Order: sequence, then C-alpha cells, then structure tokens
Amino acid sequence: MNETRTLIVGQGLAGSLLAWELLRRGQRVVILDDDHARASSTAAAGLINPVTGMRLVRHPLAETFLTAAEGCYRALERDLHIPLLHWVPLWRCSRSETDPARHRTRRRDPAYKDFLGPWRAAAPHPAIVAGQGGFMQRHTGYLAPRRLLAALKDRFRQQGLLRIARVEAGTLQYSRRRVLLAGCRADRVVFCEGASGAGNPWFRWLPFQPVKGEILTLRADASLPNVIVNAGQWVLPLGNGRFKLGATYDRTHLDCIPTAAGRDQLLAALTHLIRLESPPRLLAHRAGIRPSTLDKAPFIGPHPVHPALLIFNGFGSRGSMSIPWYAARFADYLCGHGPVPAEADILRFRDRLK
Ligand SMILES: Cc1cc2nc3c(=O)[nH]c(=O)nc-3n(C[C@H](O)[C@H](O)[C@H](O)COP(=O)(O)OP(=O)(O)OC[C@H]3O[C@@H](n4cnc5c(N)ncnc54)[C@H](O)[C@@H]3O)c2cc1C
Repeated sequence: MNETRTLIVGQGLAGSLLAWELLRRGQRVVILDDDHARASSTAAAGLINPVTGMRLVRHPLAETFLTAAEGCYRALERDLHIPLLHWVPLWRCSRSETDPARHRTRRRDPAYKDFLGPWRAAAPHPAIVAGQGGFMQRHTGYLAPRRLLAALKDRFRQQGLLRIARVEAGTLQYSRRRVLLAGCRADRVVFCEGASGAGNPWFRWLPFQPVKGEILTLRADASLPNVIVNAGQWVLPLGNGRFKLGATYDRTHLDCIPTAAGRDQLLAALTHLIRLESPPRLLAHRAGIRPSTLDKAPFIGPHPVHPALLIFNGFGSRGSMSIPWYAARFADYLCGHGPVPAEADILRFRDRLK
C-alpha cells in the first residue's frame, strides 16, 4: 500500500499546480487521475484576460494573479524545458452601442488605466474585422495547458507519484486518523476533480454551476496577426496560420462530446472576427466542462466536519490566470503557513451542509 502525506485526486491544472507547489515545499504527494477522461484543462485554450465580460470588469486580484502566473509558469518552463506562457495583446471589438461610453468610464478609473488602450475606429490589422471599432487590452495572453499537463504527467510518473485510476470518493475510509482511498493511505486527501467534483458525495453541497464549452483548432492559408481578437467569441493565433476559435457556452448538455452544432456556431462567429481568403482547415475539435461556481469564486479548504478531506476546485473559466496564486496559497496553508484565502474558502457555504 502507498503511504503519503497528501493524496491529490485529479491531475488537471488545479491538481498539477497544487502538487508542484507541495513538492517544492518538500511535501510527500501521490496523485490519482483517470487519464484526463473528463478534464477541462485539456480542452481549454488557456486564455489569460484580467478584464472580461460585457461590463468590462477587472478581477479585483488581477495584478496578484498575473504576477503569480508569470512566476509560476516561467519556473515551470525552466524546470520542464518547454515554452508555456505567451503574452499577446488582445483586440476587444465593440459589442454594443454602449461600449464606447463604458470604455471611457473605465479608462478614467486608475484601476483600469494600465489594462485598457484608447478607443480606436479602425482595427489594428486589415485581417481583423473592425465592426464598430474597439480597443486594445494589455496584460493578456495564453498558457499552453495541454503541453503543461502532458509534461507534468510524464514528470510525476517518472517520479512514481502519479497513478492512473478512477477514484470513487464514496469508498473513502478513515482509519486511525488516516485516510484510505483506492489502495493509498494518506494524512489527507485533496479533491481537484474539476466539474466532476459536483458529484463528489463529500462536497456536493457546494453550489457548482458547470458550463460545457467547445473549441476548434484551425489552420488558415495565410499567417494571422499576433493579436487575440475578442468579440464574445474569440480567435487566438498560435503561429504558422494555426489558431484556436472558441468558445461555446452550454449549461444543459453537460458532457465532453464535441458537436456539429458547436462547430457550426463557432465557424459562423469566425466571419465577424477575421477575414480569410479561403476556409480554414479543421485540425481539432474539443469539448469540456468548466468547473464554474454560483458566486464565481473557487472552492478551497477543508470539509467543515471531516478536516482530512479537502477541496481545491471551482476555477471556472479563468483557471490559467488564477490557479497559480491559489495553488501557492493553499500549499502554504497545507504546510501550516497562512489561511485559506477568504473569498475562496468553502466555509462561506457552510449553511448549505445538512
Ligand atoms: C472549452 C473550454 C475552454 C476554456 N477556456 C479557458 C481559457 O481560455 N482560459 C482559462 O483560464 N480557462 C479556460 N477554461 C477553464 C479551464 O479549463 C479551467 O479553469 C481549469 O482548467 C480547471 O482545471 P481543474 O484542474 O480544476 O479541472 P480539470 O482540468 O477538469 O481536471 C480534473 C481532473 O481530474 C480528473 N478526475 C475527476 N474526477 C476524478 C476521479 N474521481 N478520479 C480520478 N480522476 C478524476 C479529470 O479527468 C481531470 O483529469 C476552459 C474550459 C473549457 C471547457
């Protein structure tokens, strides 16, 4: 039987970065994952955008997240010898008549000044559909989540820390103040199951709001400008004519199956984003479920009644930007240094636990 201090269930971006942070702190860790069978991280585009939505809202922890993401992903690039993080400016197309006024208001606010460029009538490149104008956003870019997870999977396996197995949380047992799960004995287990966490019997009292999404990877004949184009749906250039096109939002069909309807919806949106001489070639079509939550904040911390069972989940549609900072804070907490960040602490929903 394996013995460890911390058992982590799920090797998505959350479980991977938490494991990496714990290992850096000298902790013993074992990870169990079902080979990414229902991972949202392997479907995700990895976009990093601190100012989002129709109302152009800047996340209150934007600078904190961006600094942590830069530090974490650059350290992983050095450690794994692969490129992971790319800062690329984003052209935000006007999406409504009220956009210019909202943009003006935001630009006057010192908290937004560094993130938003001036309004422009013309798009920054002839291949971009200008529509009713727009503006450039700064401090935007993308992570390569599939590359990162594949490299960390290899690393963890070489170190004997990763086992491919589907875990049934309901079979978990306590024995002499230790946890027994899937043949592993540990002091504690941290569930990092993404959207599947909504069915975990220990944590299903938490208000998950999972949202399915689909993304295409395409190749155009011509090279594209090195700018992310966002009008609700978005184009993310990857170099050599390759680009990602995303994403759909579906709260009803909660599976990881790519659909013809999703593909057609995205291809229809493409014509409002960039001009191409000929139709692009489809390279990949992926679907996954975002682990979103009722109040848009993550679910982090120990179970209120069973403190050896913990959760690190609920990163919604912005895991690439926020997980590095939360993984470092939660690893500190697990090592006895510092609290669970208050806005993410699951104790805020304790009243729902019957
Ligand atoms: C289409 C789409 C586009 C997205 N685009 C972006 C984007 O541009 N930028 C961004 O930041 N975020 C994006 N996201 C969201 C992003 O994917 C998440 O924020 C983040 O990756 C969640 O990581 P996670 O580790 O919590 O979950 P997951 O990646 O889902 O990882 C959970 C892992 O645990 C495994 N697992 C679950 N239950 C068990 C079990 N019982 N036993 C064993 N293994 C188990 C799963 O198979 C998986 O490997 C997107 C998501 C989707 C679906």
